[in-house]
Amino acid sequence: MLEDIAPKKISLLEWSERFEKLTDDDIGRFTYYHNEEWGRYLQPPATFMVYGARQLKRLQFDNSLAALRMWGFVFNESERLFRARQCGKKIIATMGDLGTVPVIVMAFPGCTPFYPECIWWTPFFNESNVLLDTASELGAPEAACFSRAALGAFFKRAYFPVPDRIFASTGATCDDFTSTIQSIEHLGFDVTWFEVPFRRTYPDRIYDDAQFEAKFLKRTEDYLIKEYRRIWDIMAGLTGKENTDILIESIRKTNRLRALAREIMDETHNAETAPFPALELMTIEFGNLYGYADIDEWLSILENVRDTVQLRIERGTGIQPKNAVPIAWINPSADPFLLNFVEDLNLRVVDTEYVIRQALVQIDETAEPFRALARSFLHASLIGSTRQRIASILRAIDQGKIKGVLITNVLGGSHCAMETKLMERMIDSVPVLSLDVPPPPGITEQIKTRIEAFAEALHD
Ligand code: SF4
Repeated sequence: MLEDIAPKKISLLEWSERFEKLTDDDIGRFTYYHNEEWGRYLQPPATFMVYGARQLKRLQFDNSLAALRMWGFVFNESERLFRARQCGKKIIATMGDLGTVPVIVMAFPGCTPFYPECIWWTPFFNESNVLLDTASELGAPEAACFSRAALGAFFKRAYFPVPDRIFASTGATCDDFTSTIQSIEHLGFDVTWFEVPFRRTYPDRIYDDAQFEAKFLKRTEDYLIKEYRRIWDIMAGLTGKENTDILIESIRKTNRLRALAREIMDETHNAETAPFPALELMTIEFGNLYGYADIDEWLSILENVRDTVQLRIERGTGIQPKNAVPIAWINPSADPFLLNFVEDLNLRVVDTEYVIRQALVQIDETAEPFRALARSFLHASLIGSTRQRIASILRAIDQGKIKGVLITNVLGGSHCAMETKLMERMIDSVPVLSLDVPPPPGITEQIKTRIEAFAEALHD
């Protein structure tokens, strides 16, 4: 089914023609929440443009069934959350920590975590400033990160159901988003805060991971364990379940998810020809945070993607020419178009630092579960030094695997204001381009020209 042709990125129109080849049985095979009656999500991407995602007409998508499933599932998330509410699930907003609180929430049967801040892509997909303007009126102005779209969405109450519980991080987390969450709290939503400590590095470290350069104090770990236990107790009170065996199960499932995503990314990055596009890969990396509110179906989609990637590698086929120049990408782009554009200039993304490295780490299944969660989170991108954050990219540059680095600044993002200049200084052996991603309608001709010049320099 649809695996017959050469890999390629195609437009909405081409996807609609291709979609006609699917039978009703094909479409009915894929459902969310295992519900055959109302859980279908396979749609041609053009459907989502009709629903308002106008940018899709400018984007190109991978032509595999796996990618079709992925996009149908991702764009269906809002509907899925409202369905979850209708069928009695508890909807839990987990904000700011990016990757660990959902592991606790998912342990409890009938509880669905989601990240309201992931709505930051919606203004770009919809080519609309409605959510951002609403956030501005509510006190989160233009100088704040696009994640302030979450404030607009909470206010409008139309993008996701009112959560049964909201957990939000503060401390060594993003200042921009913490102040956005405070504004959400001021709207009258009840927020349970927990604190994330800074990852200090001293000689009495308890753990040292070569890949992530994570070194931290035992008391930092102990503090985080206390915070996670507090969240656990609240969830136990909400659901009446207390046995931590369910947490161990959730950790196992999360590890499967993380291992699959890691396998897809590694195989794609190391293949001779890029077998899967960067935009789809960014969507996969972010799926690690919570499985887009249905981890079972997301796992099945990732298996489909993994098989597709492996088949393409076996056949030696891909979506870019072999001579594409390998680059690293730092900070996620709120504007999805940028990932398409960079690939069209024959640059290939082979390493990323999307501020969510913690969600790629395997959680130790043999350790006490709260300690294991704390240790995994202590690899977080944004809670330590800049050098730690880009250590693996620096190594890849030294090994000759990366020829350039693109940094997409997030307007207002404290990590951008503080870190971009430092990173530019630290990455001194390959060209670095840093740029601010503007709000919708998105990147300007001037920014395109800068990226084209960067690509030209790398192709020389
Ligand atoms: S400023 Fe950075 S870390 Fe903070 S919400 Fe925005 S993208 Fe996330």
